[in-house]
Amino acid sequence: MIDFHCHLDLYRYPSLAVEDADKAGIHVLFVTTLPKAWPEAQKMIVGCPNIRVALGLHPEIAHERESELSLFEKYGNQTKYFGEIGLDGSPQLRNFQDVQARVFHTVLRLAAEMGGKILSIHSRRATEQVLDSLASHSDFGVPVLHWFSGSQRQLRRAIEQGCWFSCGPAMLRSAKGKAIAKMIPRERMLTETDGPFAFVESRPLQPADSWSAVESLSNIWDVDLQESVSILLHNLKDLTAKVQLHAPAANVRSEKIFG
Ligand SMILES: [Zn+2]
Repeated sequence: MIDFHCHLDLYRYPSLAVEDADKAGIHVLFVTTLPKAWPEAQKMIVGCPNIRVALGLHPEIAHERESELSLFEKYGNQTKYFGEIGLDGSPQLRNFQDVQARVFHTVLRLAAEMGGKILSIHSRRATEQVLDSLASHSDFGVPVLHWFSGSQRQLRRAIEQGCWFSCGPAMLRSAKGKAIAKMIPRERMLTETDGPFAFVESRPLQPADSWSAVESLSNIWDVDLQESVSILLHNLKDLTAKVQLHAPAANVRSEKIFG
């Protein structure tokens, strides 16, 4: 299946998490939280054809790591994926809204300069600001809003702005999450786990738990599991074909589905 937002390097035993995801054949977008994590993340996935690494700078630590933005220029051309990036409007981060916005705008600008990227975007308590930021840029590629938690009005706006969405088991357990998932166009839906930050029954979710999100979507869409799998794999193929790497590095691989 597909786990389009997972922090493989933040598990207690990262190499085991990578090995399990690889053995289970899950297509994983391994998002990083700081640009400095990029080289190590690349090493971790050697020999895992279904795992891709995204270059990220998480909004929760944007104020501590702004100086690492230059690494987007250094590593950016090695990947089609940027994430985890975005904005977080939680009260404890109120003092850092300016630096978060500066970082997010810079990453969007760099994504555009590099020919566009697929972006895994965090928007907790900042949906409107994220959508405003996206609207103020162009040619940055395709935004994928991970764990969307805004209102239905904001969801309609996001859809109009061309956003895709990745939904996980934790989101799809709540009535609000289910209602949101129902409104998302099927052809813009992907699954995720957000492990190890998201939990199920006090256990951190693992990439293979993305199957549980597929089951929830089958119920929401009223189709059988096989049909959901085929929709989601088709979506992944469609999404990854939308962005091309403009300066391919020697270590960039491509295959049928997860390009
Ligand atoms: Zn995350």
